[in-house]
Amino acid sequence: MNSTPTVLLRPGEGDRVVAGHPWIYQGSIQRITAPPTDGELVQVKDHRQRLLGVGFYNSKSKINVRLIAPDRVEVNAAFFEERIRAALIVRQRHMPNATSFRVVNAESDLLSGLIVDKYEDVLVLQTSALGMDKHKDTIVQVLQKIFSPRAILERNELASRKFEGLPDANGVLAGQHDGPMTIKLNGLSFEVDLREGHKTGMYLDQQANYQAVAAFAKGANVLDCFSFLGGFGLHAAKAGAAQVLMLDQSEEAIAAAKRNAEANGVAGVCQFEATNVFDWFKANTKVAPHERVIPRYDLIVLDPPSFTRNRSTVPDALRGYKELHLRALKLLKPGGVMATFCCSHHVDAGLFQDTVLAAAYDQRRVLRRVATYAQSPDHPILPSIPETEYLKGFAFELVR
Ligand code: SAH
Repeated sequence: MNSTPTVLLRPGEGDRVVAGHPWIYQGSIQRITAPPTDGELVQVKDHRQRLLGVGFYNSKSKINVRLIAPDRVEVNAAFFEERIRAALIVRQRHMPNATSFRVVNAESDLLSGLIVDKYEDVLVLQTSALGMDKHKDTIVQVLQKIFSPRAILERNELASRKFEGLPDANGVLAGQHDGPMTIKLNGLSFEVDLREGHKTGMYLDQQANYQAVAAFAKGANVLDCFSFLGGFGLHAAKAGAAQVLMLDQSEEAIAAAKRNAEANGVAGVCQFEATNVFDWFKANTKVAPHERVIPRYDLIVLDPPSFTRNRSTVPDALRGYKELHLRALKLLKPGGVMATFCCSHHVDAGLFQDTVLAAAYDQRRVLRRVATYAQSPDHPILPSIPETEYLKGFAFELVR
């Protein structure tokens, strides 16, 4: 390991690393002893030459080093097996009944650049960093040993790969897989398309919240906005909702949600509309002057896509969130529940709640917060790595 190139950090730049953050930006680096090859393992030391860890180097990336261990390790099959088994134990502890879940969530599991999702007996892999991508074959072998899956796919059409100098890739790495498959979440069946669907096929990060929000659904008239495959809506229907309307702008998502409703025996109470949620809200909250919108929903779920991918567009995103809540509140019955989510890392829980309250204020409504939500435990949050926390949500009851 002595021949390993060494990256020396500027004074003060080591603290974050000691606290557990694995990223080293170019600006933190004072000097590199020997020029490393991109994707190669380097050791990182602070300005006093104390070893902080080893990680993958990439000169092309904004993140020059992604640390992988606090001490000198060999990155081989044994290394990956230990890390992946440790990650699996976390899932088994916190989601003992889940059969589909995220096995490895990158930084959250001390494997920056690697995501592995398990959809029943099929695994989907994403390698978003060059160093990790170079070990893809080893990772596939290790996954086969641990899980004996029917197939392992890669969904590597990620914008972030471009910044690492990696091409897009989508294919079957091991075994056989073709077309959509059916997975189980909380006892419900979902048809997912692992080759084409959003993310790696589904939003696994909401698994725990589907059930938590469904607790408000019994006998309710439910509106599920941004429903995708029907995650919230179908859980609500199964929990005894009187009526569920699911809205999503994607025709394919709505078609799949319909098939999912039938497969789960709840089609009788479900309705669907392929529409832009903002347009739908406008059309459904339009009244003549001096008339009031008649509220008609007992439970409204808002789970929009991230409205902002960076800090500079946060103000626009907040306007979008506010508009959405303004409209939703007009349709919510007194005593009804609005379950609302924000998956943008740049809008934290405090700012998100402030935005909901600003909408409530404009409508002269008062809310009671009855639940707070986060991403499911298979997307672990390490507070020393703020980027690992992104999904937040609340359930608000309408007081008046
Ligand atoms: N609630 C879903 C995830 C939603 S992801 C689940 O739990 O699986 C966001 C969804 O919003 C996507 O399916 C996308 O098609 C849809 N979408 C994005 N913008 C939209 C808009 N303006 N109107 C309606 N749907 C939209």
